[in-house]
Amino acid sequence: MKNPITGKIYDIQGFSVQDGPGIRTTVFLKGCPLRCPWCHSPESQQFKSQLCWMEMRCVGVDLCGLCLEACPKGAIHPGERVYSELKKKEMQSVVVDRDLCDDCGECAKVCYAEALYMCGKDYTVSEVIDRVIKDKPFYDKSGGGVTISGGEALAQPEFTLALLKACKENGLHVALDTTGFAKWELVKQTLPYVDLYLYDLKHMDSQKHQTVIGVPNERILENAKRIAEAGGKLQVRIPVIPQFNDSRENIKKTGEFCKTLGDAVTLIQLLPYHNLGNMKYERLGRKALLLEAKPPSDRKMNVLKELLEGMGLPVSIH
Ligand code: SF4
Ligand code: SF4
Repeated sequence: MKNPITGKIYDIQGFSVQDGPGIRTTVFLKGCPLRCPWCHSPESQQFKSQLCWMEMRCVGVDLCGLCLEACPKGAIHPGERVYSELKKKEMQSVVVDRDLCDDCGECAKVCYAEALYMCGKDYTVSEVIDRVIKDKPFYDKSGGGVTISGGEALAQPEFTLALLKACKENGLHVALDTTGFAKWELVKQTLPYVDLYLYDLKHMDSQKHQTVIGVPNERILENAKRIAEAGGKLQVRIPVIPQFNDSRENIKKTGEFCKTLGDAVTLIQLLPYHNLGNMKYERLGRKALLLEAKPPSDRKMNVLKELLEGMGLPVSIH
């Protein structure tokens, strides 16, 4: 018998109210072809499972130290002995040498404190359905459902298509949170199973899009047009990033583009940049790229909202 398709997932979050209408369960897939410097889910970017390290959970090598022996690459060493404010005692935790680590996960298997853990696990479609279907009464009561997100879910096309189809077969409202950066032939196949696209528009200038994010925007804009022409619904999301896309000119152009999509656009969400994801970079042994950036002020967000509303568009902040 053929093995069932699996997808690499890094989180399944119940009771989500930020990812489409009502109460939802959001399934986060790993892997993304874009590299947004403000990404607050850096664990979503790579397709493979990755080792994460949360120092505050470590009980120290005096009490434990199991990971030191478990690592076949010799990538884990005792750290400095320092006073921990959190634990109110002197202790020595560990240091992961990311140049030696190949994310094999052996250390996470022995770390009972879950200071070391793997991000990204293979799921079959039926495993995901078993998990999400449990909350169906909440979806039905609140007008919610399931949101497939990432990373970029369309970058795991076979699994995502099978999952979207299975959600629909189980009578669930389905949202697909996407960057829109995929071949139209693939996006087209999602149309029968997706009730709402949560669709990111990051910058209207393709050159700036390419320079900052790593890919141009033509395909993204074209796919949005085609979804609208095919009768799909789009909730457009604009992450408002200081000094990148927060000018009146860019937001106005984005609004003008949304107008061309007609009533396919159910809402434009302005999402203010935040830096809450910075600690996630540290867990992966990376540095956040926008350490200096400050979230836009409420005043700024309201000015942009009023600009779009003045064009007759439905807008929310957050
Ligand atoms: S994931 Fe594997 S290679 Fe990396 S530190 Fe843990 S045991 Fe070592
Ligand atoms: S196994 Fe976990 S708790 Fe034990 S020393 Fe290593 S990181 Fe710390």
